[in-house]
Amino acid sequence: MLNIRSLSKIYSGNGLSVPVLRNLTLSIGARELCAITGPSGSGKTTLMNLIGLLDRPSAGEIEIAGRATSSLSADDAANMRNSVIGFVFQSFHLLPRLTAVDNVALPLIYCGVSLSARRARARQVLREVGLESRLMHKPDMLSGGQRQRVAIARALITQPSLLLADEPTGNLDTQSANEILSLFLALNATLGTTTIIITHDPTVAARCPRRIVMRDGNIFDDNRGELRRYVS
Ligand code: ADP
Ligand code: MG
Repeated sequence: MLNIRSLSKIYSGNGLSVPVLRNLTLSIGARELCAITGPSGSGKTTLMNLIGLLDRPSAGEIEIAGRATSSLSADDAANMRNSVIGFVFQSFHLLPRLTAVDNVALPLIYCGVSLSARRARARQVLREVGLESRLMHKPDMLSGGQRQRVAIARALITQPSLLLADEPTGNLDTQSANEILSLFLALNATLGTTTIIITHDPTVAARCPRRIVMRDGNIFDDNRGELRRYVS
């Protein structure tokens, strides 16, 4: 599903160049759910922005669903991003004046779907994330965990094959964080969407079937299978 080869990213500006990713190679299979952990500054968000086609690598290749992305034009990269990738962020990024339904329906505006069909589909996805009783609520009437459910529904409404979440539980209390992770696991099991969750929370990472650890811009460790005990 995702093949990353010899990926490097160097930020440059003001006469300085900062190497952030160094020759990173990683493969993630279809339907996998994995956590990416690692110290602050290790390059997790940079890696996610590159995978999500929000930024360009300095060197290397990212292949998504069998397509090399380095040679895509800006328009083709944007089309691929809108059709193949869903994003979830720590701070939800919901529009405050829109209801849950209209926040979730937003990405379908670019797909030529009528307003009533967009809303019907949004209601359906909100039911799938357990928010059928909050359809007409605006974000400030929702708890943090509920806002993140809205954001997850918005990410899924286009039926992406790759779901990228950067610290999705970073603004949540422990119980809400656990519930959101349970939702990611359940959605991954039913929809089969390949899912990458960046997290610094060891209890969140411990529940993921694959755990990739980054250090200094590269993969430091990569563990699969059930984790019985973890050290926090
Ligand atoms: P993480 O998400 O693991 O905390 P980041 O990918 O955000 O790490 O950042 C990795 C390193 O790259 C940090 O040292 C950060 O300061 C640097 N960095 C991130 N974005 C930029 C940028 N746009 N310009 C320059 N340096 C950056
Ligand atoms: Mg980060």
